Amino acid sequence: MGMDWPELMLDIEREHGIAVDWNELWAACQHHKPPDITVDSLHRYLTNEANRVCTNCKYLLKTLPCPGSCPECGEPYTEAELTFEQLRGIICELLGCKPEMVTPEVFMNKDLGMT
Ligand SMILES: [Zn+2]
Repeated sequence: MGMDWPELMLDIEREHGIAVDWNELWAACQHHKPPDITVDSLHRYLTNEANRVCTNCKYLLKTLPCPGSCPECGEPYTEAELTFEQLRGIICELLGCKPEMVTPEVFMNKDLGMT
């Protein structure tokens, strides 16, 4: 994975409070050769509550009841939310592609040119 992936994941962590475990994401990509993931699978991975972090201090909130307040900094949090449309918007902005290209079944690397 090259330059686009880290930027995408940083955006999502900062804006939506979703942290990504690179090893897990990489493992999910291994179902395809060469390694790749569909937009739908990526969306489902990202919206798994295990990836929820505090948007203020990045504290990992995964096992804590929701909604609540961050035990580290006190920032209130609710369910991490990232709709498919929001993910599509982020991908389009990053890659400069049209929204109609970003459908659930297309592959991030092969079809959309993520690096
Ligand atoms: Zn916090």
